[in-house]
Amino acid sequence: QAKYLSKATDLAKNLIAMVVKKNDVVIDATVGNGNDILFLCDLVGEKGKVIGFDIQDIAIENTEKKLRDKNMIDRVMLINSGHEKLKEYVDTKVSAIMFNLGYLPGKNHEITTKYKTTIEAVKQGIDLLEVNGIMTIAIYPGHKEGLKEKEELLKYLSTIDQKQGNVLKMEFINQINNPPLLIAIEKK
Ligand code: SAM
Repeated sequence: QAKYLSKATDLAKNLIAMVVKKNDVVIDATVGNGNDILFLCDLVGEKGKVIGFDIQDIAIENTEKKLRDKNMIDRVMLINSGHEKLKEYVDTKVSAIMFNLGYLPGKNHEITTKYKTTIEAVKQGIDLLEVNGIMTIAIYPGHKEGLKEKEELLKYLSTIDQKQGNVLKMEFINQINNPPLLIAIEKK
């Protein structure tokens, strides 16, 4: 069992933790079951702000309950809408944005992130990042829509001007069954 390089999502958290400080404003672009949002809430602390997006009512409702139970709801704004509308809701710079793509585990697999809206959200997100802010994107190519999303997203990401930011791809190259991969972007 690997301890340090086991999952794309753990690597994402390590990168985010390296950058985010107390009182920061950050975005969780795919709230899902709310695990990442709890992690972000810890990092920004009581006076920070986390803005979360998800298109599924159930994700928003369950996460809201989790946050209330942990007394963290005051630092969170949950938005029941697609992340492709990021800039309609957010007009401040943020230090970090997390994308954990795909579908909600244990729920309808048809309701999944799709490359067109993901790319739109990533574009808007890069605009919103402050200098040296970080974006992480965990991609799941193990299902059909996810594979298409990986291909299209990588095509787009490779066109980002290096003056705008550094784009890193982390991929397990000796694992079977299309393991998740991680993209990290630091804004310049
Ligand atoms: N971060 C989550 C956690 O900690 O549990 C896991 C996220 S889950 C893998 C992906 C989520 O993206 C699903 O809940 C799904 O409803 C959501 N999603 C799909 N399309 C979306 C969109 N256009 N905008 C925002 N969320 C979307």
